[in-house]
Amino acid sequence: MNPRPVRPGGSLQQSLLALGSLSVAVGLAVWQQRTLGRGRSDSVTAVERPETTFSDVAGLIEAKEELAEIVTFLRDPERFRRMGARMPRGVLLAGPPGTGKTLLARAVAGEAGVPFFAMSASQFVEVYVGVGAKRVRDLFAAARKASPAIVFIDEIDAIGRRRGDSQSHQEYEQTLNQILVELDGFHPRQAVVVIAATNRSDILDPALLRPGRFDRRVELSLPDRAERAAILRVHAQDKPLAPDVDLDALAARTVGLSGADLENTLNEAALLALRRGGDEITQADLEEAVDRVIAGPSRRSRALSARERETIAVHEAGHALVAHQLASADAPRRVTILGRGQMGGATVLAPDEDRRLWTRGQFLDRLAVLLGGYAAEEYRYGEVTTGSSGDLSQASALAQAMVTTYGMGKSLRGRAFDANGPVSDETSRAIDEEVSALVSEALELASRTIANASDRLDALVTALLAEETLDEARLAEILGPRPVRPALN
Ligand code: ADP
Ligand code: MG
Ligand code: ZN
Repeated sequence: MNPRPVRPGGSLQQSLLALGSLSVAVGLAVWQQRTLGRGRSDSVTAVERPETTFSDVAGLIEAKEELAEIVTFLRDPERFRRMGARMPRGVLLAGPPGTGKTLLARAVAGEAGVPFFAMSASQFVEVYVGVGAKRVRDLFAAARKASPAIVFIDEIDAIGRRRGDSQSHQEYEQTLNQILVELDGFHPRQAVVVIAATNRSDILDPALLRPGRFDRRVELSLPDRAERAAILRVHAQDKPLAPDVDLDALAARTVGLSGADLENTLNEAALLALRRGGDEITQADLEEAVDRVIAGPSRRSRALSARERETIAVHEAGHALVAHQLASADAPRRVTILGRGQMGGATVLAPDEDRRLWTRGQFLDRLAVLLGGYAAEEYRYGEVTTGSSGDLSQASALAQAMVTTYGMGKSLRGRAFDANGPVSDETSRAIDEEVSALVSEALELASRTIANASDRLDALVTALLAEETLDEARLAEILGPRPVRPALN
C-alpha cells in the first residue's frame, strides 16, 4: 500500500493508519537528516556502468526491439543529429512487478556503454518538501555532464499520480514538476535518455505522457510458457543441474510467475539442494522451490488456483466462441489466459474491414460477444464470478447508447436523448426497460450460441489450459471455418 498523507481531523481509521506508520516516518526522517547532513554529493544516487546486456534478458523480444533504437542513439548521438532525426527523450516501461523493467533499463545502458543514473521515486514520499525536487535536479545535472547517459526513475507512479488525487501533496507536486522541467529543458546537444518504470501506468499524471516527455511506451507482460523456459535457462546457466532436470516441464507449471519469481525459484532450489547436502539441483528441489515461491509472501494474490485458471479459460473461450459463431461479429484473432496487470485474460477481436456504420444486428452480435464470457461461466458452472464486471459495464454502456443515441429501442424507436438533458420519469423508466431488454436478448443469444457449440467450448478450454495463448491459426484449427457473413452490411 502507498503511504497516504493524514490530515488532522481525519477519520478514526486514518488516525489508526497514521499510528501504524509513525515509526516508519520517524525512521525516514532520521535517515533523511543523515543523508542531507553529508552534503551535496549524496544527492546523486548510485551512478553505475552496468555490464548487463540484452542477452541477460530472456524473451521480451518486442521490448528489446523498441529499445534497440535508444541504444543506437546513445552509442552515436552525433549520427542521429546529422540525419535530423528526432532524438528519443523519455521511455516509459510499464508492466507488473518482476517482469524485468529494471533489468531492461540496465541492459540499455550496458549495451550502449553509457553511465546509468538511478533513483526510485518512492524515496520521496513522506520526506521534507523540496528534497525530491532537489534530488531530481542534481541527478539530471550529473547525467547531463556525463552525456550520453541514462537516467532511470523507478516507481514513477509514486510521484506521477494524477494531480488532484486525494493522495497527492506538495512533495509529490514539486518533485513531479521538477521532472517535467528537466524533461522539457534538454539542450539539443545533450544525449540523455530518461527511462521510467511503473506497474501502475493507469494512475500516471497525463502531463508526464505528453509529446517530448515519456512519449514512448514499452509494455511488459508476465512471461508466457516459452519465455518462462528461456528465463529459467538464463538463471540456470551458473548452477549445477542434475541430469533429471526438465526446465520445460517446470515452465509449464509456473503460469503466472514473473521473471523475478522464476529467478527466485532457482535460488530456492539451490538452497534446498545445499540443505540436503547434495551437490546438484534435482527436479524434486525445483518442484519444491516452485511450491515455496507460489506460497511465499511476495506472491500473495497473484497466485492463481487451478480452479481460477480454469474459470479464466472458460470465460475467454466464451468470448472467442461467440465471436467466431456470430456472422456479423468481429472475428477472434488471439485469445490468452495470461493476465496483464489485474486482468485475468484477454480476447483480441479484429474486424475483417473497418466499419463506419453499424446496424442494430451488428450491435446485438457485439453485445453477445461482450457477454460471452459471462454466458460461458454460467453454462459451465451454473454461476458466475466477479470476473465479468468490466464486460457487463461495457455491455450496459453499449445498450444504453443503442437506445438513447441511435434510436434502436422498440418503444422509443427513432428517438434520441441528450445525455445530460432532462427526461421525464416515464421516459427514463422506458429507457431502463429497453436497455434491459437488449442486454437480455444479447445474453440469450450468447447462451444459445455456446450451448449449440459446447464441444468447441470444451476444445478451446482444453487448448487454453495447455497452451495459454491461441493465435489466429490455432483458433481456426479448433473452431473450423466461420459462418458466412451476410451479404448486407
Ligand atoms: P521489475 O523492475 O519489472 O520489477 P526486475 O527487472 O527488477 O523487475 O526483475 C527482477 C529480477 O528478475 C531480475 O534481476 C532478473 O533476475 C529476473 N528477471 C525478470 N525478468 C527477466 C527476464 N526477462 N530475463 C531474465 N531474468 C529476468
Ligand atoms: Mg524494478
Ligand atoms: Zn471478459
